[in-house]
Amino acid sequence: MSLERIYNFSAGPAILPTEMLEQAQSELLSLNGMGMSVMEISHRSNQFETIIESARRGIRELLNVPENYEILFLQGGASLQFSMIPMNFLPSGKSVDYVVTGAWGKKAVKEAERCGRVNTIFSSEETGFKCVPLQDELRFNEKAEYVHYTSNETIEGVEFKYDLDAGSLLPVVCDASSNILSKPIDVSRYALIYAGAQKNIGPSGVTLVIIRDDLIEKVPGNLPAMLDYRNFAANASMPNTPNTWGIYIIDLVCKWLKNKGGAAEMQKLNEAKAKILYDALDASDGFYQGHAERAARSTMNVTFRLPSEDLAAEFAKEAAANGLDGLKGHRSVGGIRASIYNAFPKEGVEKLVEFMNDFSHRNG
Ligand code: PMP
Repeated sequence: MSLERIYNFSAGPAILPTEMLEQAQSELLSLNGMGMSVMEISHRSNQFETIIESARRGIRELLNVPENYEILFLQGGASLQFSMIPMNFLPSGKSVDYVVTGAWGKKAVKEAERCGRVNTIFSSEETGFKCVPLQDELRFNEKAEYVHYTSNETIEGVEFKYDLDAGSLLPVVCDASSNILSKPIDVSRYALIYAGAQKNIGPSGVTLVIIRDDLIEKVPGNLPAMLDYRNFAANASMPNTPNTWGIYIIDLVCKWLKNKGGAAEMQKLNEAKAKILYDALDASDGFYQGHAERAARSTMNVTFRLPSEDLAAEFAKEAAANGLDGLKGHRSVGGIRASIYNAFPKEGVEKLVEFMNDFSHRNG
C-alpha cells in the first residue's frame, strides 16, 4: 500500500483498489492519447461506447450473466430501485412478497407500499435484525408478482449464504448492493439483481441492474421515461447522459477483478478476511459482541459492540488515529462496523485485530 493510503473500513462509498486508482490518475488528463479525460467526452463518442461495452462485458463475465439478461447502468442509487421495481412490476390490485432482514429491506418495503400491497413474508425486526431465514421457512404467496430480498444488509452485517429460491413460483428480485461480486452467484435464479456501485463495483452515482428479458416485457407503457427499465434496455443504458466517469471506473474495477481471479477468488479472500475478524470477536471473552447470529454473519460488514457505546466511540477514535478509518457503526445501531469489501487488504484486517486485542487489554 502506498504511503498516503490508510486502511479504510468505510461501508460505502468504500475503498477502491489502489492500482486501479493509479491507472485512473494516469489517464485523467488524457485518456488513450485523446488529450481529454473520460469526463470531457461525449457519451455518444466511439471512445465512450467502447468503455461502456467493456464494462457491460466485464460484469457479464465476472458474474457469468446468461445472454437473456440485460446489464444496465442507472442513476438514482439503489434507493431509486426501491421505487422503480414496484412501479415497473407491481400492477394495481396485485401484491408482492418482501423478505426483511435489515434496515435496507425495510426501506424497500416502504417504497413498494406506495405502489400496492406488500406481504412481508419474513421479518427479523423484532429480534433486532440478526438472522436470515432458512429457505424452508419461507412461504411465498403464489399470486404475488415477485419476491424481494436483500442478500447482505449493510447496516446490521447480516448476509444470506444462499441464493434465495422461489422455484417456478415467483420471480426473485435481489438488492445485492453490498455483496455483489464478493462471491459467485447463480444469476439464472434471479429475475432482477441490483446494486449501488459504491461498495464493490466503483464510485457512487451508478446503479447496476441485471434484469431478465421476460421481465422487461412486463413493464407498463405509461411510466415516466427515466423510471422505465424498457427505455434503458432499448437504449443500452443511454436514453440520456449516463454517469460516464462512474462507468469508466466500473470498467477498470472489472479488469482489476478479472486479474485477481474473479468472484471465486474474491470469495476465498473475503472469507479468509472475515474469519480473522470473527475469530477475534469470539476469542475476546465477550468484550466484543458480534451483532449477527453466526449463520448469518456477513463477510462484507462485520458488526460488533463493545461493553458501552462510550467505549465504542473511543475505539473508533483511537483506531482512526492509528490509520484504521471508518469503523463507527451506522448511526441507527451504534457499535462498530468493519466493512471489508473486495478491495480491502488482508493486512488491514490483521492490523485491526492487533488494535482490538490491544484495546481490550487496556479497557477490559
Ligand atoms: N441497499 C443496500 C443493501 C445498501 O447498503 C444501500 C446503501 N449503501 C442502499 C440500498 C441504498 O443505496 P443508495 O445510497 O445508493 O441509494
